[in-house]
Amino acid sequence: MDKRKAYATFLLGKTYIGHLFSRLAVWKRGQGYTAFKEKYLADNFFELTPEERISFPDFQKCINCGICIPSCLFSVDLFNDELPDPENYACSLSRPLPDLWTSIDNIYRCTLCGACETICPQGVPVTEIVRFVRRKIGQIAPELVPYKEVMTNKEKGLNIFGERPAPFVYTKRPKPAHLLYMGCLYSSKERDAGQRIVSLLDNAKLDFTIMDEGCCGRPMDTDGDISDNNLNKLLDANIRTVITPCAQCYGHLKEKANGNFTILHITEFLSDANFKIKTKSKVSYYDPCVLYIKHDIYDAPRQLLKASGERFIDINHDKSLLCCGAGSGVGVLYPEMAGAVSKERLKPFKEAGTEVLLTECSYCLQNLRRGVSTNDNMKVYSLSEYLYMNM
Ligand code: SF4
Ligand code: SF4
Repeated sequence: MDKRKAYATFLLGKTYIGHLFSRLAVWKRGQGYTAFKEKYLADNFFELTPEERISFPDFQKCINCGICIPSCLFSVDLFNDELPDPENYACSLSRPLPDLWTSIDNIYRCTLCGACETICPQGVPVTEIVRFVRRKIGQIAPELVPYKEVMTNKEKGLNIFGERPAPFVYTKRPKPAHLLYMGCLYSSKERDAGQRIVSLLDNAKLDFTIMDEGCCGRPMDTDGDISDNNLNKLLDANIRTVITPCAQCYGHLKEKANGNFTILHITEFLSDANFKIKTKSKVSYYDPCVLYIKHDIYDAPRQLLKASGERFIDINHDKSLLCCGAGSGVGVLYPEMAGAVSKERLKPFKEAGTEVLLTECSYCLQNLRRGVSTNDNMKVYSLSEYLYMNM
C-alpha cells in the first residue's frame, strides 16, 4: 500500500470512529435538524405531504429544452423578455423546493392556460407546479398572497371586489334541479351580460336556482365557494346539475365537485337544447383556453353558431395563441398586462372583418372588451347574452 492510500484509509477510519462516538453523544442528537428548521423557517422552508411527494418527481422532469417558451403569452414581443416563461416555472419552482419569497413576483402572472403543456416533450405539468406553489404560499405565508383584500372582503360577506351585488332577477321555481353558477365577474363587473344570461335560461323555463357567489377559488387555488359544506347543501337540496357560463369556474367546479355533480358549461347545455342565433353581423367565436385546451369543448359553441351560416367566420385557433391573458385572476391583478395580450389576440379577428366577437368566459369577455378601441368596428359579447339579444 502506498503512502497516499494509507493516509486516505487512516482519514476514513478516523471519520468513521468519530461518527460512531458522535452517535453515542445523546445530548447532541437532533440539534442539526432543529438548527436547520430554525434557520429556514423564516425563509418559508416547508415540508411535503405524502401526496405532494408522489407528484414532485413529475414536477422535476424539465430538461430546459425551451420548446414551450413561444407558446406562452408572456413571450409575445411586447413584453421584451421581462416576464417569466414556462421553462422558468418548471425549473426554478421545482428543484429544489421553491423559495416562496422569490416566487411571489411571478407566480400570480401565469393564467394556467396550459398551452405550454400541450407541446412539452417531457410532459411537465407546468400548471400543477404553479398551483402547488400558490397553495403553499397561501398555507405557509398568507401575508404574501396578493389577494389579501379578496380574503378580507369575503370575511365581510362581500364579493371579491368588495361589493354586494343585488340578486339576479329570475322566476323562483319549486325544488329546482339545476344550479346556475354565475361566478364573480358575471355577478358584478359584467353584470348586464350576467342578467341577460340568467334571463335566457329563465325564458326557456329551466328550473334553476343561483348561489350567492363570491369566488369559485380559482385565482388562489382554494375551495372558495366550492367548499364541501356548500356542495353538501346542494346535494341535500337534490341538485345534481351545475351549469356555468364562466370557463374559469367550469374548470374549477369540474375538479372540486369530484364526480358528485354533472358540471355543464353553458355552451354544452345550449347546444344540446338546440338554441340558435339569428344575426346579420359577421360573427366569430373566441375559444376560452380552459375550455378548449383543458376540456376539449370546441364543437358545442360552433353548433350554436352554425345557424348564422356564412356570416360565421370560424378562425381556428392554434392552442398556443389562445389565452386572452386574463385567466386565473391575472386580469384582476395585472389588468395592463392582460389588456396588452388581448390587443394581440384580437388582431386576426379584425383582419378577418369580424363585427361581433363572441366568447363564453367572464374573464375573456372582460379582457377582450378591454382590447377593443372605440375606432374598431367590432363588439364583444358573451355568446349566451348575444343569443338572448338575437333569438
Ligand atoms: S417545460 Fe417542457 S418544453 Fe418547457 S423547457 Fe421544460 S421540458 Fe422543455
Ligand atoms: S400555463 Fe399558460 S401562462 Fe402559464 S406558463 Fe404555461 S403557457 Fe404560460
